Amino acid sequence: MDHFEYRDGELFCEEVRIADLAAEFGTPLWVYSQNALLSNLREIQIAFAEAEPVICYSVKANSNLSILKLMNEAGSSFDVVSGGELYRVQQAGGDTTRVAFAGVGKTDAEIRFGLESNILMFNVESEAELDAIAAVAGDMGVVAPVALRLNPNIDAKTHAKTTTGKKGNKFGIDIERASELAAKVLADGRLSLVGIHMHLGSPILTTEPYAMAVKKGVEIVNEFRAAGHDTNWINLGGGFGINYKQNEAPPAKAFADVIVPAIREAGCRLALEPGRFICGNAGVLISSVTFTKREGGKLFVIQDAAMNDLVRPAMYDAFHRIWPVKPAVAAPDDFEAEIPGCEPVDVVGPVCESGDVLAKARWLPETSRGDLICTFSAGAYGTTMSSNYNSRPRGAEVMVSGGTHRIIRRRETYEDLVANEIIES
Ligand code: PLP
Repeated sequence: MDHFEYRDGELFCEEVRIADLAAEFGTPLWVYSQNALLSNLREIQIAFAEAEPVICYSVKANSNLSILKLMNEAGSSFDVVSGGELYRVQQAGGDTTRVAFAGVGKTDAEIRFGLESNILMFNVESEAELDAIAAVAGDMGVVAPVALRLNPNIDAKTHAKTTTGKKGNKFGIDIERASELAAKVLADGRLSLVGIHMHLGSPILTTEPYAMAVKKGVEIVNEFRAAGHDTNWINLGGGFGINYKQNEAPPAKAFADVIVPAIREAGCRLALEPGRFICGNAGVLISSVTFTKREGGKLFVIQDAAMNDLVRPAMYDAFHRIWPVKPAVAAPDDFEAEIPGCEPVDVVGPVCESGDVLAKARWLPETSRGDLICTFSAGAYGTTMSSNYNSRPRGAEVMVSGGTHRIIRRRETYEDLVANEIIES
């Protein structure tokens, strides 16, 4: 469980008791392990070291400024998909000259912001975007570095809502059109074709899609080079899977083994955009049980974290391990199996939606009002996808390092909820 473990019958993050954090900051509470964040990044840095990649931590996974600052200090760059994310990178002290800027709908203002920030490259997702970037760059009198985001039509076998590299998804340019658009770039002095980009989906639990993608990528780059482009970068995006259940995800080295040799042989520069791999298992969501009830033949555990905090189960049918912070039964290896001393419960939140379920028919030991519950693997696409739905203030975020902790985002208040709203007086 990566820096989160049960000791003497209760859950710790590194050397800090989770129950102490909940007592100090209340629930729902996000707790991150700094050493997990750093060691997950380091795992990728080491696995891919031979290719000397630029690792662009994917800001969308978790954009807290303290996490961005940590990533920057540990040698990571950033992948952004909006002007707001680029602003966050700046605020965290990040080096914007190594930023990759993706997204299907960049506005002129965002393009200008990217060019002013001297970013490494735009991952361009359509011909119309290419035209827009050329126009803004021309206006500014600069040359825009572009990488064509190609849709390689590879099935990464992820959830329908998180697959991005198959024909018919909204992302990228059909791979068959790559040469035509490259020729357009070559003829335009306002643009420079520095590379190609592919992001296949997320989370990906096998290496084959990457092996196929890098093969296709190298073929295309060689075509571009033969056509006179100075094209070096192959950006394979993110998507490396993590262990949400047990040990279902390959280590970073397995992905590197299918990617690095092809990149080196082609003499290309490698960029990667991992998000989930770095922060997914470095964060948990702590909640407390408000009520339990038996209705309709089921036991419901109603706790104070909801779909507005962590939307992944409702949105993607995602599986998160859930277990009490001070359990009466030791945490199992297999959270999907029947567990002696437990019974199947639906873990739900207080939001007025039937879909507000964190886990369905999950074997849990008996819990009662006030008990603390941990939802694991919540560090990625937790806070960044959270909302104030049902006018629920978002919880605090705490970073643990060894035996110390610090608050990195305070809990929202009711005043925060209405701070930007204007009523006639
Ligand atoms: N790069 C792009 C273009 C993405 O769309 C995403 C996720 O949606 C990522 C990187 C990060 O993916 P992950 O967090 O699974 O590594």
